[in-house]
Amino acid sequence: MENITELKEFLSVPKYISIISHRNPDGDAIGSSLGLYHFLNKFGHTVRVMFPSEYPAGFEWMEDAKKILIYDIEQDDVKDTLERSDIVFCLDFNSLDRIDKSGEIINSLTVPKVLIDHHLDPEPFAEYQLSDITASSTCELVYRFICDFGEKEKLDETIASCIYTGIVTDTGSFRFSTSPRLFRVVADLVELGVDDYTIQIKIFNTLNEKQLRLLGHCLARRMEILPEFQAGIIVLNKKDYENYDIKRGDTEGIVNYLLMLKDVKVAAFITEQPTIVKISLRSKGDFSVQEIASKYFNGGGHKNASGGYSFKSLGWMIHRFKEVLPKYKEQLLQS
Ligand code: 5GP
Ligand code: MN
Repeated sequence: MENITELKEFLSVPKYISIISHRNPDGDAIGSSLGLYHFLNKFGHTVRVMFPSEYPAGFEWMEDAKKILIYDIEQDDVKDTLERSDIVFCLDFNSLDRIDKSGEIINSLTVPKVLIDHHLDPEPFAEYQLSDITASSTCELVYRFICDFGEKEKLDETIASCIYTGIVTDTGSFRFSTSPRLFRVVADLVELGVDDYTIQIKIFNTLNEKQLRLLGHCLARRMEILPEFQAGIIVLNKKDYENYDIKRGDTEGIVNYLLMLKDVKVAAFITEQPTIVKISLRSKGDFSVQEIASKYFNGGGHKNASGGYSFKSLGWMIHRFKEVLPKYKEQLLQS
């Protein structure tokens, strides 16, 4: 971050600070927000963390996770908190439309904003920006931010556990976006006392029976493979949502199963939600899904993990995805 000295100066007296991350918060959104929260708390600031929508129950164990404000549930609290903030930290998203109504509120604020993020093409809404698309996760960048802030010795086991959580989830347990730099960070975190084994168990081995049966349903009855495009699709409709009583977080990770197929390079998970149809895209290797998400589905993300949405029908979304695939056939076969 270029103007970090100025930011440090600003934060040298206690402030009222908001930290916000994106809708459907994942491990990186939660880990980076809570990691930064615990760090800033050490300086006598009053810090609040908020998300547009609820986070998966698998992250409830994180320290102070229960204090997080959720816009969908506590609209007025979130609005008041944002409006009385001296500064707003925006973590793990690159454009204000990723945080819905809260984005409009933030847009109207005149206080400084700080963006810490690893997505492509960040919108230039923040005065202070730490944006690096080569970073594995926003959590890795929160670690870097703390070091750049000159306060590395303030890192403790709690902060380190939050940061570790985002790294392990965004890298798919150290399968993608890794680097020597990242492993050095992780070594530091483990030295600080992070119990990496227990955290992984808490995050990944906490499915309930319904969720595992839903996975079975997706793989047995809702999966379509398109060998000519090395593509796979899983679709869940409104009836599935009813029958399996699907809640936020229940579908987490299902898209990745498609990539376990040797001959699938691109995967789509399409879900019919109350007001939108959501598409989650994943790819293997050099083939990028970022362009497909941004060009055709109002979305974006990373090379190997992107997403988007539409207000049109489920049928439209499926059809559109199948229509788009042939445009990428060459690239898919070459990648
Ligand atoms: P997921 O498929 O798990 O919802 O999201 C994977 C990645 O795609 C996220 O990290 C995020 O960067 C991106 N993404 C998902 N949905 C959207 C969307 O609606 N808009 C944008 N800009 N990015 C999205
Ligand atoms: Mn992330």
